[in-house]
Amino acid sequence: QSKTIGWNFDNSYARLPDIFFKKTEPTPVASPELVVFNSSLAESLGLDADKLKWGEEAGVLSGNVIPDGALPISQAYAGHQFGQFTMLGDGRAVLIGEQTTPSGKRYDIQLKGAGRTPFSRRGDGRASLGPMLREYIISEAMHGLHIPTNRSLSVMGSGQSVLRETELPGAILTRVASSHLRIGTFEYAAQWGSEEDLVTLADYAINRHYPELKDSNNKYLELFEKVMERQALLIANWQLVGFIHGVMNTDNMTISGETIDYGPCAFMDEYNPKTVFSSIDVQGRYAYQNQPPIAQWNLARFAESLLPLFHEDQDRAVEIAQEALAKFEKLFYTHWLTGMRQKLGMHNAEEQDKPLIEDFLSILEKHEADFTNSFRALTLEKPEETPMYGSTEFTHWYEQWQARLERQEESKDSSLLLMKKSNPAVIPRNHRVEEALEAAVENEDYQVMNSLLQVLSNPYAYSPEQEEYAVMPEESCGPYRTYCGT
Ligand code: AMP
Ligand code: MG
Ligand code: MG
Repeated sequence: QSKTIGWNFDNSYARLPDIFFKKTEPTPVASPELVVFNSSLAESLGLDADKLKWGEEAGVLSGNVIPDGALPISQAYAGHQFGQFTMLGDGRAVLIGEQTTPSGKRYDIQLKGAGRTPFSRRGDGRASLGPMLREYIISEAMHGLHIPTNRSLSVMGSGQSVLRETELPGAILTRVASSHLRIGTFEYAAQWGSEEDLVTLADYAINRHYPELKDSNNKYLELFEKVMERQALLIANWQLVGFIHGVMNTDNMTISGETIDYGPCAFMDEYNPKTVFSSIDVQGRYAYQNQPPIAQWNLARFAESLLPLFHEDQDRAVEIAQEALAKFEKLFYTHWLTGMRQKLGMHNAEEQDKPLIEDFLSILEKHEADFTNSFRALTLEKPEETPMYGSTEFTHWYEQWQARLERQEESKDSSLLLMKKSNPAVIPRNHRVEEALEAAVENEDYQVMNSLLQVLSNPYAYSPEQEEYAVMPEESCGPYRTYCGT
């Protein structure tokens, strides 16, 4: 029967040495009910979306049914959480297997909230509906923004409640990722595995994500550099849309360069580099402006884990690692500058672009202007819609910017086109996401969420339907706060 759905599992991770995982069956739930389903993602995985949605086969999405060829496991990993090293592992996630698509790509199919695992410690292994829908919405929004991310295939209500501060409806999210290898997986191997285990893991990561390095005689250092490059690009992408991850622990940073772990993340509204949404991040460790240096800090932990593979002489290995790591800043900055130029319609590069961009950002900050909507207003040639309009500094800046655009060969129209491709007209605004979650969780009304998902699937459309989604909340409801792990 699984054949007719299109499941085509090959579970390579489960062929790694035993220390990397534990066989773990998902715990079935009382009455699974599909809340949201991603048909286009299902199709791209080679699955028959209609068949998967209905009947017994839908039970796969709650952990009630194990499809043929699946080999459910929970993964072992460690990580630095807010700077502290600790053993972690999949406490509430079960990897049911790796789906290979008709085009030969491999994706982890993971059930989040599928019950207790050997890594659950005191947790119940479960998740509640609101946060799983939130992850679904924001990860799909990130995909729409063309930012590398794990995807969401479905959320199933469990028909059971989970006990948090109050009783909440339970749910299972099916997460699709090009892998769940994390920096924390390497930290785990370095701390508790043998050197052979570490080599096996590194070779596995190379095969899976960077096969072009396979035959290089410097492949482990090159693996490090590739991950660093992908992460530099990823974090630049985040900065350019105002995405704040909120919990950039090393276990939440992937080897693939995909965004993972949508707990307390949110998009910045008013431009302020110090913005933090997470209620637990009291020090602002993971504030917007800290994301690039924190990524580098995390990569340093990755390099440390790989030291035995860099050189026999560990002093020399440290030098090699430091030399490599020092390149992060430039990699990040190059992507950031390229992206900012595009956001402002610049096709070529001029020496003075950096101060011009920085001036714009400090004007946004001074006037507490919305990050997304300010770039959107420039894109729509409606600067009068920004709060800084009419101020001397903005008038001056605007003239300089216009003069800058006139100096390039490309027409005004092609600049505006570039800006439309680079500035989302909509992002998952906090009040819109909350509204969708409230309707879904409290009233079982999924229409609000589905409309939001529709609009977020093409944020660069600049279509009339998007306009209402760009509107700010009516009055300030106080600072927005996010919570993780519910
Ligand atoms: P996170 O903050 O989502 O990165 O998770 C940190 C660690 O806590 C991971 O090892 C999770 O698997 C684990 N964890 C989070 N929530 C639960 C839960 N409800 N039950 C068991 N483990 C959990
Ligand atoms: Mg995590
Ligand atoms: Mg989490």
